[in-house]
Formats: sequence, structure tokens, C-alpha cells
Amino acid sequence: MNQYNQYKTMLQKAADINYASAVLQWDQETYMPENGASMRARQLATLAGYAHELSTDKHLGVLLNELIGDVKLDGQQQANIRHSLKDYKQRAKYPAAFVEEMSLAISKAFNSWHEAKTKNDFKLFQPDLEKLVDLKLREADLLGYKEHPYDALLDQYEHGLTVAQIKPLFADVRNQLVDFVKQITPMKVDSSFMHLHYPKNEQWDFGMKLLADMGYDFKAGRQDMSSHPFTTNFNSHDVRVTTRIDENNLHEMIWSTIHEGGHALYEQGLLLENYGLPMGEAVSLGIHESQSRLWENNVGRSLNYWKHYYPIIQKIFTSQLGNVDLNTFYKAMNEVKPSFIRTNADELTYHFHIMIRFEIEVQLMEQKVKVSELPELWNALYKEYLGIDVPSVSQGVLQDVHWSHGSLGYFPTYSIGSFYAAQFFASAKKQIPGLENQLATGNYSELLQWLRTNIHVHGKLYSADELCNRITGESLNFKYFMDYAKEKYLGMK
Ligand code: ZN
Repeated sequence: MNQYNQYKTMLQKAADINYASAVLQWDQETYMPENGASMRARQLATLAGYAHELSTDKHLGVLLNELIGDVKLDGQQQANIRHSLKDYKQRAKYPAAFVEEMSLAISKAFNSWHEAKTKNDFKLFQPDLEKLVDLKLREADLLGYKEHPYDALLDQYEHGLTVAQIKPLFADVRNQLVDFVKQITPMKVDSSFMHLHYPKNEQWDFGMKLLADMGYDFKAGRQDMSSHPFTTNFNSHDVRVTTRIDENNLHEMIWSTIHEGGHALYEQGLLLENYGLPMGEAVSLGIHESQSRLWENNVGRSLNYWKHYYPIIQKIFTSQLGNVDLNTFYKAMNEVKPSFIRTNADELTYHFHIMIRFEIEVQLMEQKVKVSELPELWNALYKEYLGIDVPSVSQGVLQDVHWSHGSLGYFPTYSIGSFYAAQFFASAKKQIPGLENQLATGNYSELLQWLRTNIHVHGKLYSADELCNRITGESLNFKYFMDYAKEKYLGMK
């Protein structure tokens, strides 16, 4: 077997193990009985150990170092080797003792975060978060960075992204979006009908239709229920989504279904022949999120979308929606209203939640703020950007699980995803004649095809910035999101 094929075989074996773990995790979140938890944790740990052995195998390192300059390889193969060597070198930077210390600190922090949130007492979490921040600073040093320690953390989720690139984006959010939200709120709409009783089975059937219409392939996936909706994939021919149904809140199922559907279409659009290789994987978390947000916001929250679906859903829920007209429904679906909880936020104020977390994380990594000062800083920033008084630490600084997982640098990818989505969608509108009409008649095949050819099939061939430039002719900027917001909310009747 030639060296490239040896490399491919090793990577695909590691993928087999990782995706087998993913099946077990999917099962854990959906169907596993309560008592299965402890043995499942053991099974996952064993598999993680095997996958780690394979991906840090010395022979793999030798192969990668020999293949990196091989001019006989084609462009895709060279890109695979480049990415794999980078990953390999990154993994090698972590001493085993550090990995163990981090993993222990995370499980401790996750438990104390949970308790602190339940008891509404930040002090229960504080020492464990201090420990994690300390480890994150050490991790940044291990990984190395040019300008800012936070860059090393960002790079793990969004390769190449830096503080210097995010700051101007959020400066635009601060300078443009904060005032814009003040200008359009409070919105005059009575959205109480969204919280009438919507029976589960009817909601489920409607959600399945939304997914099928988007082009989600049910022969290569399935939908189930879970308490936190997610998308997982075992290969591009088996991509699963979950949703959550609240019988007294119609928003919940609709947005989670379309959002996860957008993630899933990306995974289903990757090429099976690139299974287990970088060319068979998504570019980054930000680009992944651009796919879910494009479907959720630019498509799903548009008036065109509801021109098609409103008569359908109105027929299903006649007693709840029979007397509500399309415009009122559309406005209620898009109500902008500052709130405490990120995951319930509308598509505009959502970015203030992210901006706050970004500012805090940067200050933590600059050691300019102490963990003990976070509740106070959090509340001050919510007052400043959202104009609201945070009522408790449970609904404030403790609301998200991310920090207890040690995931610093993750939050910005959510906002980046929405901004990419707006920029991509503006290009799609220019490049697909009659797109608006297609959306208004429930026809998404051309849009999906456009996403497939421009984004999905490439895997990691292009970086996020290269991809954005190829599609839109410029790097990521905030202008498109702001234009989208203005056109939509100023045009609302
Ligand atoms: Zn998402």
C-alpha cells in the first residue's frame, strides 16, 4: 500500500471509532434508559482512548511528515495532509498530565456549575472556574499564539480567527445594532397566541414536513426528540437530528427543527468518498452555524417562507391560529425584545448576548478581570447593551454550560455564523434568479443546490475566509447582517 493510502486507512479507522462513539452518544441523548449512564460513560472513555492512540500514533506522524511535500498528490490530497499534519502537531503539544488535569477539572466544574445554577449561588462554581481559566491560560501557552492568548483558543473552533478580527465586527454590533434595536422596540404585536396549547403530535408532523421540504434526506437520517436539540453524523449517509416540543410555545419546535435541519443538510452534502478525511468534514464551527442560521433566519423567519407555510399551519391549528392573519403571525415570529436568556433571544438581540460573553472571555484571558468579579461585570454589561436588570446569577452569568466545559472561545462562532449566513444569502439572492418567488412557493431545491456546490461538497478544501471570498467576493463583515436587519424590520407593517 502506498503511503497516502496507509495514511487514509489510519485516519478512517480513527473515524470509525469516533463515529461509533457518536452513535453511543446519540443513543444516550435519545433512548438510553436512565440506569445505562454509568456503563455508557465507561464505554465512551474506552473508545476515546483507542481513538486517541490511533490519532497520535508515531507512524502516522512519520507518514504525514513524508507526505507533506509530495508533489505527486493532487490538490485535495495535499489539503488532507496539510490539515491532518496540523491536527497531529496540535495534539502533540499537550502533555498527557495536562490532558488528565484538564479532564478532571472539567468534570468537577460541570458538577459545581450545575449545583451553583440550581442553588443560584455563584460561589459554588467560582473556585472551579478559576481553576479552568488558569488551565486555559496554560493551554494557550502550550498551543502558542502571535498576538493574544485568546487567539489560541479561538483557533480550535474557527481556524485562523483572532481577537483582532472579531473586535471590529462587534464594534459594528455595538455602534449600529444597539441603537437600531432601541429604534424598533418595543414592537407592537400581541404574540400571546404563540403560547396557546399546540398538541405534540401535530407539531411533530408539521416539523417533519418542514425538514422534508428543505431537502433533508430521511433515507440518510432521522429525527428524534431530546431535551437539547442537536445534529450528529456518523457519515454523510447517516445524519441525525433531534428536536424539542413545548406544547405551550410554538417557537421551540419550529426554530430548533429548521436550525438543526440546516446543520444536517451541510453534513448530508459532504462527500462519502472523503469519509474520515478533512475533505469530508465541515470547514469550521462558524461555517457550520452559517448553514443552520441561513435556514433558520434568512429563510425560516422570512415573510416569503410563511406565505407558503402559514395557510398550512393555520389549517392544522385552526382553533389557535384561525383568527390570526399572516402579518401578525410573521411579526410575532420575529418579535425583537431584550431578554436575559441567550437561547431564547430573537435574531437581533442574540448578538448582544454573544458580544458580552466575548468581552468577558477576552478580559479573563488578559487577566484584567477576576472570576469573582464576573457576576457584577455580567450584570453591568446586560444593563449597558440590553437595558435590563439581571434578576439572578442563575438567569445571568450561570445560564450557559460552555464555561464549565472549558469551552472558552466558542461563543463568537455563533455570531460569526449569523453574519456569514447574511453575507452568503445576499450572494444567493443575486445568483439565483427568482429565489424570493421560489421561497414563497415552498421550493428550496435551487437554494440547496447552490449551498451544496458552493459550500458543502468542498469539505475543508478552502478556509472559512477563502470560502467567503470565493462566494461573496469579500471577507466577512457586518454590513450584510445590518442590511438584512434594516430591510426586514423597517419594512414590517
Ligand atoms: Zn447551531
